Order: sequence, then C-alpha cells, then structure tokens
Amino acid sequence: MKIQYDTKKSLVERIFLLEIVKGLGLTLRRLFSKSVTIQYPKERKELFPGFRGKHALIRDPKTGTARCVACMRCASVCPARCISIRFTTDEKTGGRKLESYEIDALRCIFCGYCEEVCPVNAVVLTEDYEYSDYEREPFHFDMEALLNNWDKFVEKNKIDPERYLNPFLRPRGLALGELPAGKRMDVPEEWTLEGQVVWKDGKAVSAREAAAE
Ligand code: SF4
Ligand code: SF4
Repeated sequence: MKIQYDTKKSLVERIFLLEIVKGLGLTLRRLFSKSVTIQYPKERKELFPGFRGKHALIRDPKTGTARCVACMRCASVCPARCISIRFTTDEKTGGRKLESYEIDALRCIFCGYCEEVCPVNAVVLTEDYEYSDYEREPFHFDMEALLNNWDKFVEKNKIDPERYLNPFLRPRGLALGELPAGKRMDVPEEWTLEGQVVWKDGKAVSAREAAAE
C-alpha cells in the first residue's frame, strides 16, 4: 500500500518549521498547567462515594461478632457465585445461626450487589484498595479474615462502626423509614431528597424545587 503524505506546505512553514514551534509551544503550556497525575503512594486520590474495594463483614460492636443473620440474600444475588455461607439452627430461638462465611475475592466482579441487598448492613465493600499479594490464598476471605478486614478499615479510617453505610447504596431520595431497619442511618444532605439534584426542563434543579413546581 502506498502511503500519501501531505507535502503541500507554504514557504513560511518550510523555512520556520512551524509544526516544531507549535509542538514546543504545547509542551511549554503543559509545563505550567496543573498536573493531572499524582505521586502515588505519597499522594492518594479522594475516592468517590460508592467506591467498591476490599470485602468486610461488619463486626457488631455490641456482640463482637458478624451482624450477618444468614438470610442468604447476598449468596443468591452474587453473579460470580463467590460467596459461600453455612448456618445451623439455633436450638433456643429456632433462628439461623451463622457458621461460616467465605468470599473468593478473585472471582468477585465488585458489582456491589451483596452489599446492596443485605438487609442488616452486614457485608460491605470498603474503600480499601491496597491489598495485592503474590499468592491466591490471601484473597480467599473466611469469616475471620472478613471481620479482620473490617477492624483494620475502622482503625485506619477512624470510622464509627455504628453509623457506617456507604451513601451510594442508599437509593437517592428514599425516606429513612423505607429502608430495611438495619440500614436506617443518617446520610449526608446531598443523598437525601432535599439535597438531591434532578434534571428538569434541560437544567439541574434541586428535588425540592422540582417538587414545588
Ligand atoms: S461484589 Fe458482586 S460479585 Fe463480588 S461478592 Fe458481592 S455480589 Fe458477588
Ligand atoms: S445478605 Fe447480609 S445478612 Fe444476609 S447472608 Fe448476606 S451478609 Fe448475611
């Protein structure tokens, strides 16, 4: 195949090598503009709400164990089939008693369905994303590992375990009373109906304004 080059250049362009001058000008402009790269790991980007990182089982501060009630919703909804749960029946109450909970993080596609569907806010995808390894085994989280993940996340980020809920997973505008009891926690104003921004007649307005019109 013959490649055609555009050779039609004016005399000025040929003499002064305008393309090179333009290229140097661009480099010079970028040299003094704000950098878009960050110096990781010294610098870290602020994560957006709803970031889906390392799995954890929230440790109930009152009992010291997982809050999971073995309803099996997360295991049923998981598209990657990477959650395994075993439970027994509590002889006293007749309810389910969690025996084991495992997640194979290498099969997980980080869809967040498990976190979203959980009625008691027991399983979460934390904002922790730094957990590489050379072996596969550390990514197979058993119940103890998942609880440890939570403990480390709480300690590192000074999280209040009583109030932790990823705001992204609370459907926007949903009244507190409409959430499952385990997820009824206050969230920042921008995630409430009042703070929500909606698109109306080609412009962004607050949900409160849109409802008033
Ligand atoms: S994030 Fe999605 S794929 Fe991963 S464990 Fe949860 S439901 Fe399964
Ligand atoms: S959905 Fe929540 S409570 Fe139900 S089994 Fe999964 S982690 Fe446990």
